Amino acid sequence: MKFEDLNLAEPILKALAEEGYTAPTPIQQQAIQPVLDGYDVLGCAQTGTGKTAAFALPILQRMVSTPRPYNPRGKHRPIRALVLSPTRELAGQIGDSFTRYGRFTKCKHTVIFGGVSQNRQVNALRNGVDVLVATPGRLQDLMDQGLVDISMVELFVLDEADRMLDMGFIGSIRKVIAKLPPQHQTLFFSATMSKEILALADTILNEPVRIETAPVSTPAEKVEQHVFFVDKGDKQALLEHLLLDVTADKVLVFSRTKHGADRIVRMLGKIKIHAEAIHANKSQNARQTALKLFKDGRARVLVATDIASRGIDVDDISHVINFDLPNEPETYVHRIGRTGRAGASGVALSFCAQDERPYLRDIERITRTRLKAQTDHPFSSSGAPSSQEQGQQRQYHGGAPRPQGHQNPNQARRQQKPLQQQQRKAQP
Ligand code: AMP
Repeated sequence: MKFEDLNLAEPILKALAEEGYTAPTPIQQQAIQPVLDGYDVLGCAQTGTGKTAAFALPILQRMVSTPRPYNPRGKHRPIRALVLSPTRELAGQIGDSFTRYGRFTKCKHTVIFGGVSQNRQVNALRNGVDVLVATPGRLQDLMDQGLVDISMVELFVLDEADRMLDMGFIGSIRKVIAKLPPQHQTLFFSATMSKEILALADTILNEPVRIETAPVSTPAEKVEQHVFFVDKGDKQALLEHLLLDVTADKVLVFSRTKHGADRIVRMLGKIKIHAEAIHANKSQNARQTALKLFKDGRARVLVATDIASRGIDVDDISHVINFDLPNEPETYVHRIGRTGRAGASGVALSFCAQDERPYLRDIERITRTRLKAQTDHPFSSSGAPSSQEQGQQRQYHGGAPRPQGHQNPNQARRQQKPLQQQQRKAQP
């Protein structure tokens, strides 16, 4: 399927082409049409599946294809779409997505969240927006002050509903919903579908179309994952030590910063390991050359930042090495999904310095996996957790652990899981 098949307006298609998106992701394929057709949606999907565009694109389409209604309560445009997000970071990312996908449209949006002064947010609201992205607490606060009017909302999105409940936002959410007009369409997304979530969905959705995609954490099943507790200053030496293993023949290293990526490449060059870096400071040409050298096997190591890694489409990566742990656990799942592709097995090695321990905990929580700690290497940090803290530990005898896994047949089946769509008559 192509985006063109979804009847999206030209300005939206143009933005998608500039983003480099060639085809909709599975959740986008499933969600966009029902949303355009006016159905409520109950989506089971995690971050990383393309879920933001799955609701942002049909919202933008609605904004460009139907005339803005007259706002009897003010001279500015009314809020036509409201997106609730649990955290300020996520709200910001959603706002960025509207900026990117909507840049050739006349749609205006703003993001409001707590923890900062409300003045700028209130000014943006006073100037009028079509789409409002908000965290529940700040929205309720501004509504209580009479500074936000959501009585003309046509589309309401509740994103990451499970996290909303965990964070205790249910009261605010109910108060917000009570102020929405009776005729509105609701899109409800949650990574998990507990009884509590389904009960909430049941009270706010009207015969929804159900959509599911494979959880983002599944690629990890065929990837062997290890963690190395190491002092920051020893990370480079540990990397070089791990590269003594000849089975680590196509290695993707993730660095948090562009400068870090360049430094790794320089240091590996000194010991005659051909490494290339791709990051935002490199021209498109330089990135493509680096990628080609890596694909062809002429560069054994590719060092990437997360942003630049989006375009990496290489099937036979033997090892992913997280030189720095990402602060978003979903990013970890994306990174390690680069190895173990197309049914092959893979190895993911993560370096964890003292200050990265909280990131590791988050990763282990969302992947529901305890990463195997490798302590038997020359650079094990003095502060590595004890075996009781870490649970099972593995002896490590030099070089990188080898791939052993095989594809879990259940995983392939799960990814094929058919849509459970419950069709209903289109609402006006
Ligand atoms: P999300 O799950 O919304 O956080 O999206 C995860 C990542 O996938 C983001 O970096 C998006 O920019 C990217 N993305 C979303 N849709 C597509 C697509 N159709 N093609 C390529 N990348 C996409």
